[in-house]
Amino acid sequence: MPHRFTRQIVAFACACSAATASWSAPPQTQSFGKAAAAAAAAAASPVCFYADINYQGASFCGSANNGWVGRTWNDRISSVKVPAGAQVTLYEHANYGGRSLVLNGDNANLVPMGMNDMASSFKLTAGSGGGGNTSELDAKCTPTVQLSQEDTDPQRSRLFLDVSGDNPEAFMQDIGRKVCRTLYRQASEIRNASRVRLILRYAPGQVAWKSGDGADITVMISTDHLQRVKNENRDVGKEIKGILFHEMTHMYQQDDRDGRGADPGLIEGIADTVRFKNGFVPDGAQPNPNGNWNDGYRTTAFFLLWLDQRYDGFIYRLNLTMDGQDGKVWTPDAFRAITGKPVDQLWAEYRAAQ
Ligand SMILES: [Zn+2]
Repeated sequence: MPHRFTRQIVAFACACSAATASWSAPPQTQSFGKAAAAAAAAAASPVCFYADINYQGASFCGSANNGWVGRTWNDRISSVKVPAGAQVTLYEHANYGGRSLVLNGDNANLVPMGMNDMASSFKLTAGSGGGGNTSELDAKCTPTVQLSQEDTDPQRSRLFLDVSGDNPEAFMQDIGRKVCRTLYRQASEIRNASRVRLILRYAPGQVAWKSGDGADITVMISTDHLQRVKNENRDVGKEIKGILFHEMTHMYQQDDRDGRGADPGLIEGIADTVRFKNGFVPDGAQPNPNGNWNDGYRTTAFFLLWLDQRYDGFIYRLNLTMDGQDGKVWTPDAFRAITGKPVDQLWAEYRAAQ
């Protein structure tokens, strides 16, 4: 019964006005046949840390683990630049103690991540959620990309191409690899997904939608939305990447499809968590301690992020509890299995901490 995403598509359609899930022949379909670029660069370049958000203020860079950032930098870091292929883990205390936050890429603002002015030590690794083989993960999460540029307006049609450096394939493959590095440690754990189609369409009033499931998804982004973002002087690149991190997480994440299917709110929450962990928290988004842990999207994502900083490998482990081939039906007891506490208790603790 491969249709656990129905409710999400409907919900998404409601949020974004008329959405259709059908694939209609677009006027311009490009397949990108260039060789997959981008074997992850070796982590030779340093990671740089800034005192203010958006890479402002005083800064320093490091290219090795550091068990104590020093008195000058203790509890001061607010944004981080991470070179391609590298990964940095920030720790609350000296000698890699306390809460931790893994970053696979630049993060312009640690405030919504719950790690602002807090780090005291850091570790640098060459990627993957913890000790796995990055090249195998990358190989499995480098999809073929088909771009359908339906909008012929010269200005609007440039918005995505400019952000992607005129190489949509490499751009989207990079996001696919980062999704898997965020969710997985072993290539064998990853759901098979090999193709993504992206439609750029002038769809007034809409933002984006996704159709399909797992191995074969189609994402539509409205160029009208991108133009609005630009007109509001917001960051078009951040918006596009945020949308794609969320939607491409749906390609690779587990969702217990052989069981009754995992909680749809949790699936959406994980998609936003992966987006957040890769540095794309939407402007103004912040924890919402009202509602329920499985309300989905950012409400759930901030909760999962909070847990991920307190329980080692939490997101990784939670995703694996939704394995679609283990013959088991997913239940919220997965939270207890990982943390020792039921999800309602965790949610109460999270709310009390806001
Ligand atoms: Zn979604």
